[in-house]
Amino acid sequence: MPKCIEKEIVMFSKMSRRFIMCVLTASLLCSQVLSASAQSDLEEEVPPSNASISTVEAASNATLFLPSVTTDSQEKAVSQMTEERMPVNSEVQMPASEEADIVKVAVTAPAGMGNYCSMTWPSGGWAFASDTNGGDPCKWLISQSPAGGVIQRKGLYANNNWNRVVYRCYPPNFGWVGIYQGWGNAPLTWAYDAAKNKPGCIFNVSPTAMPIFDAPFPLSTAYSHVTGFDFAKAPYNTLNVPLEFGQPGSATATIVDWKGRDKSKGYINNHSGHDWPMPRGTPIYAVADGTVVIARDWLSTCTGSDSAVQKEVAIRHTVTGGSGYYERFLTYYAHFQSYVVKTGQVVKKGQLIGYSGNSGCSTAPHLHFGVIRLTNTADKLEETVHFFFPPQHSDASDKDIDSYGWDAPKGFDPWAWKAYPSGALSLNLWRPGQAPSVGNW
Ligand SMILES: [Zn+2]
Repeated sequence: MPKCIEKEIVMFSKMSRRFIMCVLTASLLCSQVLSASAQSDLEEEVPPSNASISTVEAASNATLFLPSVTTDSQEKAVSQMTEERMPVNSEVQMPASEEADIVKVAVTAPAGMGNYCSMTWPSGGWAFASDTNGGDPCKWLISQSPAGGVIQRKGLYANNNWNRVVYRCYPPNFGWVGIYQGWGNAPLTWAYDAAKNKPGCIFNVSPTAMPIFDAPFPLSTAYSHVTGFDFAKAPYNTLNVPLEFGQPGSATATIVDWKGRDKSKGYINNHSGHDWPMPRGTPIYAVADGTVVIARDWLSTCTGSDSAVQKEVAIRHTVTGGSGYYERFLTYYAHFQSYVVKTGQVVKKGQLIGYSGNSGCSTAPHLHFGVIRLTNTADKLEETVHFFFPPQHSDASDKDIDSYGWDAPKGFDPWAWKAYPSGALSLNLWRPGQAPSVGNW
């Protein structure tokens, strides 16, 4: 039987936190930091009526999303498919300024973020801890645990808003995956409880929103929206929209938008960002402070645009919370007429980076805007950016997320949990009033 140690400690402020650590066996260790008043907080904190997932029966039903099982053979198939669609001979090296990012161009996380830490031990033991007050749960776990632990994930989550949690157990194939979403610390607790007694569990946590982006172009521009982020991508390719997301449509939808809707007809399949038609020469801005990691001419094989040479820019953004914890994203802007920044350059939010155009693989003047998640992806603590050359864009393909988040009436971000190891949790990154319209997408 688990031997549980409970103790009260005061950490980083006058707020008290209760830490509960259950030592299952000498070699199998699991632990979590719980807020001392987690339950009462939950009952008192009613989500705002305009919360993006306002219909989630969060507090009343701890098993809102039941853990699902995939077999080892399925997992293996997934890995093979993922590798096949990503040629490794066309990688572009990124400038190595990862640490400098934090010092020079960090974006301060919105208020109310806590930190979480997921660790494993070679024996199959694991630990999962969180700190609502910006403390360092990894440091705490290491101080309480046997040597040899590996930090698998560490990052930010929202104390007073919605979060999503994906946990995976049974390494090395991670054939067990569980998914939860709820308010504050609740889904972390549910996931922890569900993972107990399973070996090698790793937890990915993400807030459903982290508002840090401003619009990439003047919203007064005459623009429209023609296609967005497709959640039905390899390896699963189709999704059952009525069953999984409560939307009308096909049980085998090939294109699914951020609201879980069937967009299989009339849009671009497997698209990894948003396309906004706009006049050539529209100024394009950095959506947040960051470091330019690509500003280049890419010679595409496409015809019909203004030029086969596609002009494109990518910027890395580091969002810092307490205790040095951070999340990192990359924004990608394509089809420019011209760009005015250089690789390695530090840019500020709202700074001009170039002018929209119709270059490369484009059939009409537009901005393609994509976001790649670099931290706490399905399979990595931190992703090395790999820029490849698929037919249309130079998105990294791997770990693309939707900057509008995932907002279906029911169901869970499918790209985050079905697409291991390719996927990552999407989150709404726009500040209020800054998201360009996506119309009915
Ligand atoms: Zn596009």
